[in-house]
Amino acid sequence: MDSYRKLLAANKEWVQGKLAQREDFFEQLAEGQQPEFLWIGCSDSRVPAEDLTGCQPGELFVHRNIGNLVPESDVNALSVLQFAVEHLKVKHVIVCGHYRCGGVMHGMKHGDLGLLDAWLANIRTIFEEHAAELAGPLTEIERWDRMVEINVRRQVRNVAASAIVHKAWREERRPLIHGWVCDLKTGYLKELETRGPEQIRAEV
Ligand SMILES: [Zn+2]
Repeated sequence: MDSYRKLLAANKEWVQGKLAQREDFFEQLAEGQQPEFLWIGCSDSRVPAEDLTGCQPGELFVHRNIGNLVPESDVNALSVLQFAVEHLKVKHVIVCGHYRCGGVMHGMKHGDLGLLDAWLANIRTIFEEHAAELAGPLTEIERWDRMVEINVRRQVRNVAASAIVHKAWREERRPLIHGWVCDLKTGYLKELETRGPEQIRAEV
């Protein structure tokens, strides 16, 4: 069987499973969405947002790209953030990175990946800013893991510094911004930090 056909076959089974649980599952889904969470994660195939968190369709609004980045100038990521915060009115924005992230690894090197290098320059800049901290007596894996965490924290900061989030914090006291990392070797998510509306007072 062509490998892609197994996806279509699995879809049929998934539909039947959902209908067996609730007859009107898809009718309800088609009515609209009110997700409580925006998930900003890496495109890596090993970190599927819904599977990691046990979420069902309708529960997570998702944006994924290489390295789970939210650059200040990225219209794509910021459009997703704006729609989630202003229209869906999500209560939580979760930036989730993962150890052994290939995007982060390549961002730590001067590579020759063509167009991708322009995207990874976002990571390279953060890496260079933290060069002193990362130059300590660390193994390559430890340095890589540390950089994954530094990157998540920076993306949390970018989300928290956006005009979109500041407006929502001022007017509606939401959302909370979370920084998480998935450990591929155990499957567990680790919480790094949370930022909320009290941040506004701290920054003024
Ligand atoms: Zn990754």
